[in-house]
Amino acid sequence: MYDIVILGGGPAAVSAGIYAARKKMSSAIIADNLAGQSIVSDDINNWIGIKSISGFALAKSMEDHLRAYDGIDIFDGELVTKVERIEGGFVALTPSEKRFEAKTVLVATGGSHRKLGIPGEEKFEGKGVVFCSTCDAPLFKGKDVAVIGGGNAGLEAVLDLVPYASKIYLLVRSEKIRGDLATLDKVKASEKVEILYNTVANEVLGDVMVSGLKVTDSISGIEREMPVSGVFVEIGTVPNSDMVKGLVELDEKGEIKIDCRTGRSSLVGIWAAGDVSDALYKQNNLAAGDGIKATLNAYDYIRNGI
Ligand SMILES: Cc1cc2nc3c(=O)[nH]c(=O)nc-3n(C[C@H](O)[C@H](O)[C@H](O)COP(=O)(O)OP(=O)(O)OC[C@H]3O[C@@H](n4cnc5c(N)ncnc54)[C@H](O)[C@@H]3O)c2cc1C
Repeated sequence: MYDIVILGGGPAAVSAGIYAARKKMSSAIIADNLAGQSIVSDDINNWIGIKSISGFALAKSMEDHLRAYDGIDIFDGELVTKVERIEGGFVALTPSEKRFEAKTVLVATGGSHRKLGIPGEEKFEGKGVVFCSTCDAPLFKGKDVAVIGGGNAGLEAVLDLVPYASKIYLLVRSEKIRGDLATLDKVKASEKVEILYNTVANEVLGDVMVSGLKVTDSISGIEREMPVSGVFVEIGTVPNSDMVKGLVELDEKGEIKIDCRTGRSSLVGIWAAGDVSDALYKQNNLAAGDGIKATLNAYDYIRNGI
């Protein structure tokens, strides 16, 4: 039985893994994919200590740092679907029937792409409906596209598309952009971009591939069809907390409720950190810090029972 199993492979989990190894806790990190969400970002400018780094390079440097410690077992490519209580701790279970037993569990499984849930979205996924702009922007050279979402992910998707698409409509539900103003300035600097505020997407249209998007202006109530070949869905994330549903308290969004001093969940022995938790802000640096805080607190708990 491990002292701690860490679920996840983003900044929260990797920082936790490094601290668990340094504290000589017997530990395992179990990740579906050992890399955080921002791996798709071209340019990260706020990882403290580095002015500019690609998401890929950042994820690689974190992985290298983790692998420099041999005191932690690393299981990459394993999805944990359930955590259960057992005598003396918990067991994390995978669909391939692997069992990871531990005295404590840190859930650092972050978030996954939120979907629109409108007709045509599922049908045209991979046929013009896109969830990763960094991966697929070059496929839309010379085409008109729509990006849905006024947060940072939406703005970054627009910037990914600027070198390729001929026209980019940025659809925002409200009358405000939620993303960083510095990124918004870059978006507004391109003549290819048109921002449509108060605009809601209703249906993705097409035959074999996407050919349009039905939208409504929520102020006038007028519905229209926009001829676009690509629909980039960038409306945030949903927390990957299903494996502890019913075991620990979740908020209405499905985020694991934690004590912000310690990272403890509502159940003794389970911690959460990063985007899967109800911590107010979702950022790489914060996820890394919260992963460390939770691990140090789990260490105190195992060592001193507090
Ligand atoms: C496009 C984009 C750009 C961003 N840019 C920035 C930026 O410039 N600066 C910044 O500070 N933040 C940025 N963010 C936000 C930042 O990426 C997140 O706040 C951060 O990644 C959260 O880290 P995390 O470790 O909590 O979770 P995540 O990074 O989401 O990592 C979750 C990990 O858990 C694994 N996992 C998920 N479910 C399971 C499971 N059931 N079993 C096992 N493993 C599982 C995943 O494979 C992954 O490894 C960006 C986000 C996006 C989407």
